Amino acid sequence: MSMDIDAIVIGAGVVGLATGRALAMSGREVLVIERHKHIGQETSSRNSEVIHAGIYYPKGSLKATLCVKGRKMLYDYCQSHHVEHQRLGKLIVATNDQQAENLQQIFQKALGNGVDDCSYLDQQTLQEMEPHLNAVRAIHSPSTGIINSHELMLAYQADIEAHGGTVVLDTPVIGGEVIEGGFRLQTGGSEPMDITCRELINSAGLGAQSLAASIRGIPAGSVPKQYLSRGCYFTLSGKAPFKHLIYPMPNNAGLGVHLTLDLQGQARFGPDTQWTDEIDYTVDPRRGDAFYGAVREYFPALEDGRLDPAYSGIRPKIAGPGEEAADFMISGPADHGVPGWVGLYGIESPGLTSSMAIADQVVSELS
Ligand SMILES: Cc1cc2nc3c(=O)[nH]c(=O)nc-3n(C[C@H](O)[C@H](O)[C@H](O)COP(=O)(O)OP(=O)(O)OC[C@H]3O[C@@H](n4cnc5c(N)ncnc54)[C@H](O)[C@@H]3O)c2cc1C
Repeated sequence: MSMDIDAIVIGAGVVGLATGRALAMSGREVLVIERHKHIGQETSSRNSEVIHAGIYYPKGSLKATLCVKGRKMLYDYCQSHHVEHQRLGKLIVATNDQQAENLQQIFQKALGNGVDDCSYLDQQTLQEMEPHLNAVRAIHSPSTGIINSHELMLAYQADIEAHGGTVVLDTPVIGGEVIEGGFRLQTGGSEPMDITCRELINSAGLGAQSLAASIRGIPAGSVPKQYLSRGCYFTLSGKAPFKHLIYPMPNNAGLGVHLTLDLQGQARFGPDTQWTDEIDYTVDPRRGDAFYGAVREYFPALEDGRLDPAYSGIRPKIAGPGEEAADFMISGPADHGVPGWVGLYGIESPGLTSSMAIADQVVSELS
């Protein structure tokens, strides 16, 4: 049976667009289908916009390998495609001697992941670099940076179109089925259609599990349970006190309430961690109370009233409260037995940094 199109990617977030780009550049005719009127309206525009070095993740995990590979690809891409970014560097800070000892484990982890440009800084050097910082020791990661994620997505979209692909907006995929030689999909919206394709990539982020369930023939056992974890941000009014991104010691829930800077130099703190059952991006101002305590550990001069509620994002997790953090899940034909189908699940941080490497991985799952 002949198919309408070679490959369809569902979801025009940063990972779906990177994947559409890689598939189009491999010579396939590609459609990226998005339910919103614009690209990147969900998690891809509700994050820290940090290019991560790849320090914390378990050795050999997809998060570690794809972050390190993706980070290098991303810096090269930003350079060649004029995507706004800055290699600001980050400090992971220990505020007491116990934490300073634990920094060593993080340093070793970084080395194990191939992040070989980190160094230790002592208290005096830190005081000179960042006079407002309270820290006894820190790891400096010079290859951590920040990026304009919307410019990145627009550049990916332009590459898709330059290679004959199309991004279709305002078009929710509402169901489908596995058929001989491929897939049939139904879309809703103002111009509903039936369309067939040989390859189908589920890059629907927070919608990935419900999308997979709506396609007849996708084994339910290949789709992990979804958990949602909201992360809120608060901006710091006035001038930013730091030139680097500042991260406290990581804890079980994540990287801790850290300071990032945007490309205009505005400082913000977050994200915190709140398990939730619903997709609700409201930031409760009362969550700011806990931010003051956490931030003053490393920025004691933070005055009352300087934090303003900003925005939130929701992590598409596949491990729940109290469970060990899960790796990215890239479920290809070798895992579930459906030729042409790749499901992406749990693409939380560092998904933005890893986007091009995830895309390459999807293409290799299909070959
Ligand atoms: C709080 C927070 C902070 C983060 N910080 C960082 C960071 O600093 N650095 C980093 O590297 N990563 C970070 N991440 C992770 C990063 O943002 C994500 O990994 C990345 O944005 C995921 O992109 P995506 O394309 O998979 O998903 P999304 O951006 O969620 O895109 C999925 C798209 O699919 C569409 N869709 C869903 N269902 C359907 C359907 N049925 N039909 C059509 N379209 C559909 C949605 O509308 C959406 O546009 C952070 C994440 C969070 C939550």
